[in-house]
Amino acid sequence: MNVIEIAEKFPEELDAIKFFERFRWKRGKPICPYCDNVKVSKRTKDFRFKCYSCTRTFSVTVNTKLHGTGLELKKWLFAFSIVTDAKKGLSAMQLQRNLSISYPTAFKMYHRIREFMLDENTELDELDGIVEMDETYVGPKRPRLPNSQKREMTSSEGIEIPELDERIDELKEQGIKFKRGRGNPAKADYDVKRGRGTKKIPVVGIVERGGDVVAQVMKNLSAKNLIAMVKKTVDEDKAVLVTDELPTYKKMDSFIERVMINHKKLYSYKGINTNTIESFWAIIKRQIMGQHHHVTAKHLPKYVAEAVFKYNNRNDDDMFVTLVKNAMQEKY
Ligand SMILES: [Zn+2]
Repeated sequence: MNVIEIAEKFPEELDAIKFFERFRWKRGKPICPYCDNVKVSKRTKDFRFKCYSCTRTFSVTVNTKLHGTGLELKKWLFAFSIVTDAKKGLSAMQLQRNLSISYPTAFKMYHRIREFMLDENTELDELDGIVEMDETYVGPKRPRLPNSQKREMTSSEGIEIPELDERIDELKEQGIKFKRGRGNPAKADYDVKRGRGTKKIPVVGIVERGGDVVAQVMKNLSAKNLIAMVKKTVDEDKAVLVTDELPTYKKMDSFIERVMINHKKLYSYKGINTNTIESFWAIIKRQIMGQHHHVTAKHLPKYVAEAVFKYNNRNDDDMFVTLVKNAMQEKY
């Protein structure tokens, strides 16, 4: 539902409340959240019900994930719509402007919405069929090296340019300064503090061709972590795993059928490729890095959850309703 439809469908706060009530209770018929009694008063002026048994009052959001936000439910509906419609991602600042709320409120709302998305992501069926697995790094863009430096650095050892480039960029991110035209890391000034918090963070993804994706932020890409992820999310008997030549993936061969594409030689061979997961990485980077310039390890899982949710619901017009449903889940 787009914002115009929402404005038309929910002109008053009560219209929004009734909509949420339909997802909270069967046929929208209120039940006391404190004692499960069904005999309750009519809605009072402040949109609450009073229980005839325990005499407590409650609103539709009591004990749900929207409990005590202090925001009109209409605003939540607008926020759900704006966020799900933003295919390329959105910043909290854009949400702030669209909803005429403060930045901290917009920030909190957006993170809450990502939590609802994460809830949805955890209820997926196991992936099967052709399933691609790959890893990427999300974080600040690497600075470009001047060409003169590139040449000097790569002349002697016969090391391939891309690999060395990456190494240099890694070192630069750690705060090592290269002197122009010399390119000798040994002579570089090293300032540990500068590099902190700007490191790229590994994200591992598994996608079923034509199906869903799962993605997970990982502290390290150990065989143990990767195997645990496959076992948890993939149906090992009904799937063929496609990976690149990263040695860790070899350890999967003991429990799942696997084919490998060697990216040093070619990117696709008779349908053996990791193109689907690669295109998901492109989406995730656009959504995250296009909107958020400082992504911390703490928040990255939520940004990833948003990208996964949008990808898995890409053919679904009702992302909006899914969010309303998840927002109305009771929390205990
Ligand atoms: Zn009660």
